[in-house]
Amino acid sequence: MNKTAPIIPRYTDAEHAPAWRRALAEAVTRPAELLALLNLPEEPAAESTADAFGLRVPRGFIARMHPGDRRDPLLLQVLPDAIECQAVAGYLADPLGEAAAMAAPGLLHKYRGRALLTLTGACGIHCRYCFRRHYPYAEANPSGQHWDQALAYLAADPSLHEIILSGGDPLSLPDERLAERVAELAAIPHLRRLRIHSRLPVVLPERITDELLDWLTGSRLRPVLVVHANHPREIDADVRDGLRRLGAAGIPVLNQSVLLRGINDAADTLCALSEALFEAGVLPYYLHQLDHVQGAAHFAVDDARARALFKEIRSRLPGYLVPRLVREQAGEPAKTPL
Ligand SMILES: *Cc1c(COP(=O)(O)O)cnc(C)c1O
Ligand code: SF4
Repeated sequence: MNKTAPIIPRYTDAEHAPAWRRALAEAVTRPAELLALLNLPEEPAAESTADAFGLRVPRGFIARMHPGDRRDPLLLQVLPDAIECQAVAGYLADPLGEAAAMAAPGLLHKYRGRALLTLTGACGIHCRYCFRRHYPYAEANPSGQHWDQALAYLAADPSLHEIILSGGDPLSLPDERLAERVAELAAIPHLRRLRIHSRLPVVLPERITDELLDWLTGSRLRPVLVVHANHPREIDADVRDGLRRLGAAGIPVLNQSVLLRGINDAADTLCALSEALFEAGVLPYYLHQLDHVQGAAHFAVDDARARALFKEIRSRLPGYLVPRLVREQAGEPAKTPL
């Protein structure tokens, strides 16, 4: 995500835009407004930092924050902080070496049997720790001729069985567009599974529309959805209901989290997150060690603490509620367990 990321297309007639697109368009993008909504004092540094990777947070997500709490774990995930501008050794613009894995513009082939399309640079929320916060979406954009290039690459490699839609957030695209893309992908006979990685079901539960369920369940490709929540308070009643609808439609839903200092680096928090996910019909999948992306060093939890936390949650939860603690390493064909 960067400043050149495509802007979410506007409907000319706002009345006809689905509710979720209106909610997306009404997301808060000015730190001063966010802080005022939470009864917190203005922070000039948040304004200048937001220039490089803008603030974006849906109003429904803000409603889950605690007013007056500057250390609120949901607020810390989105509020730009001057500390992001400090260079830290080992923290890079492309920490996972994705430029080297680009098989066609916007098509990453770095995992065996799976390829990943970054269909859009737009997201419903901007997460300060995002490992793609400096990703070159403008060039790595699989639309127009690039789309044909991506399809040709996928069609030519019969070892590929799964296509992952990632981003950005693929669900920030309209359902009609996604349905078209998926139909073209489903025409490639060796593809079996369609995986969607999205934070929208958590940050904007209105996104779970009937149209979405239609194209996800109507394809020849077996769907699997990986959502992204880091803290139990992200899962309120609306989010739980939306996630349950996905489950009721027969779509397996998994969650990945990032271990974040000051946000979820406590065994109680991680256990409560797993419990809340299961209530919503979602299984915890990954707990990621932070990718060393420029601007996110202040969220890092060292490996020794991560292991100790993991040991603690494993001793407290049933096995199926324990996510895998992993790190992604540039050039490796799969995640590395810690
Ligand atoms: C790890 C990862 C994948 C691949 O996941 P596996 O479940 O290990 O195949 C895809 N997309 C993103 C964003 C990931 O972090
Ligand atoms: S939603 Fe995902 S891709 Fe978008 S900013 Fe957050 S972590 Fe990054």
